[in-house]
Amino acid sequence: RGTPALQVIELTDVVDWWPVLGASSEKYSRGVVGVATGSATYPGAAVLSVAGALAGPTGLVRYAGSAKGEVLHQHPSVIATGRVADAGRVQAWVCGSGLGTGEDSAAELRAVLAAPVPVVLDADALTLLVDGKLAGRLRGRDAPIVVTPHDREYARLCGEMPGEDRVAAALRLAAWMNAVVLLKGARTVIGTPDGRAYSNPTGTPALATGGTGDVLAGLLGSLLAAGLAPERAAGAAAYLHGLAGREAARGGPVTAPDVATALRPVLARLG
Ligand code: AMP
Ligand code: MG
Repeated sequence: RGTPALQVIELTDVVDWWPVLGASSEKYSRGVVGVATGSATYPGAAVLSVAGALAGPTGLVRYAGSAKGEVLHQHPSVIATGRVADAGRVQAWVCGSGLGTGEDSAAELRAVLAAPVPVVLDADALTLLVDGKLAGRLRGRDAPIVVTPHDREYARLCGEMPGEDRVAAALRLAAWMNAVVLLKGARTVIGTPDGRAYSNPTGTPALATGGTGDVLAGLLGSLLAAGLAPERAAGAAAYLHGLAGREAARGGPVTAPDVATALRPVLARLG
C-alpha cells in the first residue's frame, strides 16, 4: 500500500471549518463543553484545559472535578461541579489532563465514555485506558473519540514509539482504537480510523513547555462541542494552538497560560 494522502492544514481550511456565530446564537446553540480534568495534585491542568475551552467558540463550559475551587477562582464564568455524573448536559467532553490514575479517576473516565457525545482523551485518561485494557474496546462507541498523545503516551498505548513515519503511526493507532489520533510533537499529525491524515504546519518549539497540551485539549473539546467533525476539530485546534504559541512567543519566554491568552487575538483574526 502506498503512502496515504496527507493534507497539510492551511488557514483557509480552518476558516472554512470554523462555526458561524449567527445573530440569533445563544449559549446553548453555540455548544456546551464539559471538562473533566485536574485533581487535588494537579489543579493547574484543570485551569489550563478550561482556559483552552473558554477560548474556543462554545457558549458555556462546565467543569467536573476536584479542582473546582481553583477553576472558579480563575474562570468565574464556568459552571463547576465535583463529578461528571452531576455536570448536566454537554455536547462534548474533555477528559484526562492531570486527572490522576486512581479508582476515582477511572470512574470519572467511565462516566465520560458513557455519555453519547464526542470526547477528547488526553494524558491520564490515556494511561487509564491502557491500565484498564480499554484502548481496543472503544470500537462499539458511536460518538467520536479524539485521543491526543505525545510520543511517550503513544508508546504506552501502542507498545512502541511512533518512529520516523508519524503519519503511518497515527493511522495505525487510529485504526486500532477507532478514534481520531492527534499525535503531538514538533510535527503534529492527525490520523482518522478510515485512513485520512493531516499535518499541522504551525508548530513552534515555544510550545515545548508544561501545560500547553492541556490548553490544546480544552480548545479541541470546544470545537467538538460546536459541532465540528472530529478530524476538523483536531486539525483546527492544532493549527490555532501553534499560531497562539507563536503569538505568545513574541512577548518572550512562553508559559501555558500565555498560550491560552494568545488564542484570543489569533481567533479574532479568523474574521
Ligand atoms: P504536552 O506534551 O501534552 O504538554 O503537549 C505539548 C504541546 O506542545 C503539543 O501541542 C505539542 O505538539 C507541542 N510541542 C511540543 N514540542 C514542540 C516542538 N518542538 N515544536 C512544536 N510543537 C511542540
Ligand atoms: Mg500533556
